Amino acid sequence: MDDQILVINCGSSSVKIAVFDSQGTALVSALAERLGQRGARLVPDQTQPVTLPENANHQEALSASIHWLQESGYLNGQPSAIGHRVVHGGETFQEAALLDDDAIRAIEACADLAPLHNPVNLEGIQAARELFPEVPQVAVFDTAFHQTLPRHAWLYALPRRFYEDYGVRRYGFHGTSHHYMAEEAARRLGKPLEQTSIISAHLGNGCSITAIRNGLSVDTSMGLTPLEGLVMGTRSGDIDPGLFEFMAVKGVPAEETHRILNRESGLLGISGQTSDMRNLVSAAREGNEHCRDAFEVFCFRLARYIGAMMVSLDQLDALVFTGGIGENSTHVRARTLEHLTLPGFLIDPEANENHGSQLDGHIEAASSRFPVLVIPTREEAMIAREARALVQVHANPRTNRH
Ligand code: ADP
Repeated sequence: MDDQILVINCGSSSVKIAVFDSQGTALVSALAERLGQRGARLVPDQTQPVTLPENANHQEALSASIHWLQESGYLNGQPSAIGHRVVHGGETFQEAALLDDDAIRAIEACADLAPLHNPVNLEGIQAARELFPEVPQVAVFDTAFHQTLPRHAWLYALPRRFYEDYGVRRYGFHGTSHHYMAEEAARRLGKPLEQTSIISAHLGNGCSITAIRNGLSVDTSMGLTPLEGLVMGTRSGDIDPGLFEFMAVKGVPAEETHRILNRESGLLGISGQTSDMRNLVSAAREGNEHCRDAFEVFCFRLARYIGAMMVSLDQLDALVFTGGIGENSTHVRARTLEHLTLPGFLIDPEANENHGSQLDGHIEAASSRFPVLVIPTREEAMIAREARALVQVHANPRTNRH
């Protein structure tokens, strides 16, 4: 029987699952959505949606989805390992971890740093342990790749006790995706990872940017939580922290401002109508001023952060775009780089239009000082690979992982 890896990515109202074969190829991926609501369903990438039990919670959805994977022949009985995406690993986890009771306790201990994410990630872990008690399970953390940030990049200018007593510091997220960008860019550029330096822009519903020097993360835009940094679909990114007091005086309590910064800001907040870049760009092109504003603020702030990331590098092998927006939005890439002619970024309009598909991802003009690449992210494949590697090391401790 082929040895397969199951990947589980539990979000607040959805679960992504995928099965990978021993070559690292995805056999299927599927999204269980509308959890806890009417019309819960599983949407596989290759077949029609499947109805899930009404109001299914994460555990019920996961169990029904895994059952479907087995019945449809995508999963042969038990996988040989299960990889879970876990958002926050605090300072405890510098890399992926085998999920024993101690590791689970440590993830629980990080829950106050990611109250929206870690508890739901843990639900997925518990459900998978109950379904497959014999199968080794691995946690792959969004924060782990950024544990190499130098102190000056992660320390906030706050009283020391904020860090010492509460762990308030910059952690960074989307690490699995940024790590993959570094590896894939190095491969495409024909350089060893340890000698490759890139700026990686992950632009999905959440957006973050990372400076990677010689294969290691050295600066990143998200901080204590995923709210800091770039403008996102519904998150504000950087904001004057004085806003909390200002709004409190106006009668809006801090919790409400916090909710608005997470859920009603960003592209949605400025446009007043959509967090979806596709709709935003078409409305802006039809003359909608608010959508135009949202697009312009998004691209300007992204460009400003690309400039800021250069501070942490002594060479730049490529600027890399990924995520739903980074991979698909010709307009965002073009407008952003228009702000960056001084450092010398220039893109080729035709290559950009084709997302670099005929050029191994390259969209820069011949006269650009730096290569610019479009690389589709493969977070689930990375999680599967890390899970497989870790399980192999534990099965045979003499094998060197790398
Ligand atoms: P998530 O962070 O939830 O994984 P994605 O990486 O799928 O999200 O990115 C979602 C974003 O990508 C949305 O803003 C969506 O509008 C945008 N997007 C997807 N396809 C396109 C496209 N063809 N052109 C522009 N934006 C796109």
